[in-house]
Amino acid sequence: MTGQGWRGDALCAQTDPEVFFPEKGESNKSAKKVCAACPVAAECLEYALAHSDLVGVWGGTSAKGRQRIRERASQRAPLKSHAARGAAGAAVKRQRSQERSRRVVELHDQGYGTSHIAAVVGVTVDSVRRYVREAARREAA
Ligand code: SF4
Repeated sequence: MTGQGWRGDALCAQTDPEVFFPEKGESNKSAKKVCAACPVAAECLEYALAHSDLVGVWGGTSAKGRQRIRERASQRAPLKSHAARGAAGAAVKRQRSQERSRRVVELHDQGYGTSHIAAVVGVTVDSVRRYVREAARREAA
């Protein structure tokens, strides 16, 4: 799994996060332009490829673009055993949940409302509240 030290150099952290989550029918070109100049685009893309539930533009790719890359990669190197698939599936599930939680808390800290966060991250409003509560609990511990 990719470490996340690269996030400190993420160019998108200095720009409007909205452009990275275009609504249906909106262009993602301005986000991709930022990614093209980002010094950690390769690490970001690797991370996004490992987290198939991520929405929006990561590493200069859309969710659909990443799906195509994954499909091509899996055709080249399919997982061999059922056990390997099970273990990989559990790990991916854990990573997805951690990523969702991180993204929710990040947007919450930026002042976005619960419904907006739920729509952007693709979780329920209750999940947003739960992630925020859990993060507050971790911080207080
Ligand atoms: S590649 Fe794009 S999405 Fe990834 S960190 Fe850089 S600017 Fe952000």
